[in-house]
Amino acid sequence: MSTVTSYLKSLTLWELLKGMRLTGRYLIDRKITVQYPEEKTPQSPRFRGLHALRRYPNGEERCIACKLCEAVCPALAITIESEPRDDGTRRTTRYDIDLSKCIFCGFCEESCPVDSIVETRHFEYHGEKRGDLLMTKDKLLANGDRFEAQIAADRAAEARYR
Ligand code: SF4
Ligand code: SF4
Repeated sequence: MSTVTSYLKSLTLWELLKGMRLTGRYLIDRKITVQYPEEKTPQSPRFRGLHALRRYPNGEERCIACKLCEAVCPALAITIESEPRDDGTRRTTRYDIDLSKCIFCGFCEESCPVDSIVETRHFEYHGEKRGDLLMTKDKLLANGDRFEAQIAADRAAEARYR
């Protein structure tokens, strides 16, 4: 660019006018900013949020302690210990997910043969002190109880599209 052109552009505030034109265009365009948390974007039924352990309708835990989820987890975030119960079935005595390690890949829920460990749509959670993001079996079962209606509805919708 010649020195004269450059001088004229700076004299007429050309760059500023170009910027103002762009601002003006977006002033009348459709707004795409979402006013979170009052407004929320649509969520997929397959959204991978906070984990939960599900129960059967009779209250029995689904998990049979096969440890497939623990084996498949690429982040080594799951720790399971198990023991046989008096009735001969095997159940976990410890089921921890360290959410500070988890990468929310969904492999655990994909691998589960009884649809026990799932990732809910819930993502508005946080931890303030050490251990808050360590999801113990009790916390995971409580999540399952809390979100079961939505989990079941999402699974049913997914089955219809298969
Ligand atoms: S979502 Fe992935 S990283 Fe997180 S616990 Fe499951 S398998 Fe591990
Ligand atoms: S959650 Fe599923 S995959 Fe993991 S140990 Fe229990 S039954 Fe097996």
